[in-house]
Amino acid sequence: MIAPPFTAEHDLFRKTLRDYVVRELAPHALEWDEAGIFPREVFRQLAELGALGVNYPEEVGGSGGDFWHAVVLAEELVHSRNSGVNMAVLVQSQIATPIIQEIGTAEQKKEFLAPALAGEKIAALGISEPDAGSDVAHLRTTARRSGDDYVIDGAKMWITNGTRADFITLAVRTGGPGYGGISLVTFPTDVKGFSVSKKLQKLGNLSSDTALLFFEDCRIPARYLLGEENQGFYHVMTNFQGERLMAAIGAVSGMDQMVQESLRYGNERQAFDKPLIKFQVWRHRFAEHLTSIEAARWLTYRACDLFARKEPAVKEISMAKLFTGDLIQRVVYDCMQFHGGMGYVVETPVARAFRDARLLSIGGGTSEIMKEIIAKLVCPPQSRANDPQPRRRSRRSRPSSGSRSASCAGRTSAAGRTSARSGSGGSWSRSSGSSSAAGSWSGGSSASSPSRPTRPSCWSPTTAPSSTCSCWA
Ligand SMILES: Cc1cc2nc3c(=O)[nH]c(=O)nc-3n(C[C@H](O)[C@H](O)[C@H](O)COP(=O)(O)OP(=O)(O)OC[C@H]3O[C@@H](n4cnc5c(N)ncnc54)[C@H](O)[C@@H]3O)c2cc1C
Repeated sequence: MIAPPFTAEHDLFRKTLRDYVVRELAPHALEWDEAGIFPREVFRQLAELGALGVNYPEEVGGSGGDFWHAVVLAEELVHSRNSGVNMAVLVQSQIATPIIQEIGTAEQKKEFLAPALAGEKIAALGISEPDAGSDVAHLRTTARRSGDDYVIDGAKMWITNGTRADFITLAVRTGGPGYGGISLVTFPTDVKGFSVSKKLQKLGNLSSDTALLFFEDCRIPARYLLGEENQGFYHVMTNFQGERLMAAIGAVSGMDQMVQESLRYGNERQAFDKPLIKFQVWRHRFAEHLTSIEAARWLTYRACDLFARKEPAVKEISMAKLFTGDLIQRVVYDCMQFHGGMGYVVETPVARAFRDARLLSIGGGTSEIMKEIIAKLVCPPQSRANDPQPRRRSRRSRPSSGSRSASCAGRTSAAGRTSARSGSGGSWSRSSGSSSAAGSWSGGSSASSPSRPTRPSCWSPTTAPSSTCSCWA
């Protein structure tokens, strides 16, 4: 990949979204942070722009775009200057819902996915638990089969959109211990026995609601199972790839924005009779940061390119998440320092960014876990490195902890990839087949799924992967 494949349609979507985000979201950044929530209407408005379903096929209410449209979404949301809104929207559009499109039944798509993409139902992803964050394979929330139902008991922790989600893409234990006993279900939150135990008071991303959830004898129909029973672990791991990419893309866009704003500030703010930006120490600091940000951007685009083409991308995605999540800590620190006292005042965007960015090396898989994944991929045990014969792994070498490090992205055929019509100007619209004047983007051809990897060809929870499998982590 020499350049990201942004076309005129992507540019049109970018412009439409930027206009909306700057006009309708950015002015409320502080107010919504103080309120600890933002209006539900925002989901609806983004749906009307075609943003929530931008890379989903039209038959589920999407706009028929490709994964690069989702990249634009994550990049442009940053202009809201409100990380809480951005996180909530990306959970709704790119984190809790892709797996329903990927493996859900027609009924699940109609009941959960389509209303989410239309902004009518709020979605959440429920994987983490009080005792299982990085260590997904040890999650304890159970789903016991009872006739035609599952009965769910347990708790989920740190769930974004958790206080007002209409449904949760939920990981539950349907089988024995470890990664082989996990399933995914779509869980409607109006079920008896479900409760929001607590809205968590966070350090940052304040406008996003994050909750501790309880499930007590919650009965849901067995047809809400997503995919096959006890096969949920690798769907979760596959899903993390998209989540991590969204985090990396948002981090790059956010760093860029912060540095640009700092440069503007440094031109205006004077000290010792000259603009701050004239001091060489800061000129060099920003020169270094912009160089690193450019490297981060291309590392991330490289991972996006592999992901969009459904090539194995676990290593590249993990590197992008690690690099951007750690780099933003240094960039935001310096941007805040450069603002002096104003950098410590919450109404200044850089102060909120300083606080919010901290999540980027923790959420969706910590930096340590990213290093574990990369290390497992690049440093295979010597004894197996030259072994051409596929063989079962010993119990010790399997990811018995099932940590988020045990990630794997799969391959699919080219079939099912999305595409979109070209456009060169005008306004961006999601309405199917109704392109407005001047080449507006109108959804274009539909496809069977958003650009997502499906089940890894080499992965099975019951059969250990071959020793030559390069995507086993
Ligand atoms: C604001 C916010 C929103 C979130 N939203 C969601 C959501 O919507 N849905 C959801 O399911 N989850 C969500 N999470 C949970 C998030 O994904 C987890 O917090 C994260 O994966 C880390 O898990 P943990 O908090 O249990 O940390 P732990 O797993 O307890 O880790 C603690 C520390 O130990 C380190 N560590 C753990 N294992 C290893 C290892 N093998 N090697 C080296 N170091 C290790 C970690 O890197 C970390 O530094 C959210 C979290 C936050 C803070």
